[in-house]
Amino acid sequence: MIVVMQQNAEEGQIREVEEALQGWGYEIHPIYGTERTVIAAVGTPTQDEARVSEQVEALPGVEKSVLVLKPYRLASREYRPEKSVVKVGDVVVGGEGFVMMAGPCTVESEEQLMETARAVKAAGATVLRGGAYKPSTSPYSFQGMGEDGLKLLALARAETGLPVITEVMHIKNIDLVCEYADILQIGTRNMQNYDLLIEVGKLKKPVMLKRGMSAKIEEWLQAAEYILKGGNDALMLCERGVRTFETYTRNTLDLSAVLAVRELSHLPVVIDPSQGTGRASMVPAMCKAALAVGADGLLVEVHPNPEKALKDGAQTITIPAYEAMMKELKVIGEAIGRRL
Ligand code: PEP
Ligand code: MN
Repeated sequence: MIVVMQQNAEEGQIREVEEALQGWGYEIHPIYGTERTVIAAVGTPTQDEARVSEQVEALPGVEKSVLVLKPYRLASREYRPEKSVVKVGDVVVGGEGFVMMAGPCTVESEEQLMETARAVKAAGATVLRGGAYKPSTSPYSFQGMGEDGLKLLALARAETGLPVITEVMHIKNIDLVCEYADILQIGTRNMQNYDLLIEVGKLKKPVMLKRGMSAKIEEWLQAAEYILKGGNDALMLCERGVRTFETYTRNTLDLSAVLAVRELSHLPVVIDPSQGTGRASMVPAMCKAALAVGADGLLVEVHPNPEKALKDGAQTITIPAYEAMMKELKVIGEAIGRRL
């Protein structure tokens, strides 16, 4: 932390700040300028640095204090220089392979789910997606099948062997969703539901944390920190597009987030081009781009009849479109050394 004193700070004020910093466990390196004094405080105090920084700023004579260390530790590259991998049965997210998670936005019926699950598996998906609890902007739109949807996901897993990813929206449903899911999805609207993050942090179950639709990368990594801090390190991130001024696409899919997270963190990153674009016509190309940019996998919405889907039909690709896309992804994967 760097503490910048006001231009005319008195000696007594400077001394008080130095003593306070030492009291918090910092080693101090002051630079007494003719105009202004700057104090570098180094060391790793046990206190929350952001709080200490605010407390320093409340001392008389202080102009500002600047944090040098990142506000997340466990999620940072410095803490863990090598990439972390998340194992879900035989599926490894964050390794050399590129993981395909595919299925409907929402579980609607046994026929719909089974047909999709069989088809995506045959075309090379290794995880089945499907929402049973759906966060909806409108209280009038379909909210998901709830536990019946979870049961259908379990049925699809039993038949296809595909592990299942599904969203948990509320703390009260964690135990129930854990009974059926192999990966817990935390949706964009819940990235800042810190109580929920703390609870899933206590589990040993893999978690996929979606980026909040207006979240900065740093805020996303701080949300990840909540989960890691609880001891659950089976964590992957998912970029699903952010809100911008653009309205032609549902969101603006930030593929550079993969690179930003790579630089800052060890956590695997999956791309969701379905929520990311909101347009089925754009999904296959964005999937190819995600593979090329170095993402660890994809989360894609597929439905036997997108025009009949109860949710997100416009951004959902058909089974033949998924099959055609997989062929292209495999060619690209071979060219760049990523197995699908
Ligand atoms: C979804 O995956 O269907 C979904 C609701 O995602 P998000 O939380 O990113 O909107
Ligand atoms: Mn959806």
